[in-house]
Amino acid sequence: MTALNPKSVNLLVVHHTAGNKSDTVAQIRAQHLAKGWSDIGYHWLIDDKGKIHKGRPEDEQGAHAYGINERSLGVCVIGDYSRSKPSDAALSSLVFVLADLCRRFRLKRENIIGHRDAVRFTKTATPTECPGDAFYALMPEIRRRVEQTLTPPPTPKASDEVRVFVNGQQVGTGRIIEGKTFVPVAAIAQALGCSVEWDGDAMAVKIKK
Ligand SMILES: [Zn+2]
Repeated sequence: MTALNPKSVNLLVVHHTAGNKSDTVAQIRAQHLAKGWSDIGYHWLIDDKGKIHKGRPEDEQGAHAYGINERSLGVCVIGDYSRSKPSDAALSSLVFVLADLCRRFRLKRENIIGHRDAVRFTKTATPTECPGDAFYALMPEIRRRVEQTLTPPPTPKASDEVRVFVNGQQVGTGRIIEGKTFVPVAAIAQALGCSVEWDGDAMAVKIKK
């Protein structure tokens, strides 16, 4: 086993197994051990149902992309995606795993590549079709989805305060948030002689006169 320095990781490599969708992680590990490797080659595996499986520990160099193993982590969707795409569940989990790795290893969507792209980084890489034509065609979309996952949603812009009057008397202030006016319901109800009850189970505000 060779240790993988987390600081040297600057590529996340997406693979398919080019085998059966129904292969288990145990079977894939056995195939890789039979090649004389010290463990399963990939760091993370995702099955057809979208279940995420741990492969080789992240602090150990993988055996998944010859020539760039010392600077990358390998994520593999189980199955052959030369002609058909991975399932939606598998793709969602892939985006989840890649976004998590981007966060933890401080990487961006540009650092996500398909295995066949390895030849762009080193002459020693083995040319491959991996992760299959149908899957590889989704790489731009996968990168976009990872970036979306990494970008926090914008906080709504609140306007200046809005004064709220009941029968000519100011009872409080509200705000306009994204075109909708929010007012202090309890203050208004009380000024009108009503009671206000918050029902957390029903997620309801109940106003009674
Ligand atoms: Zn591969």
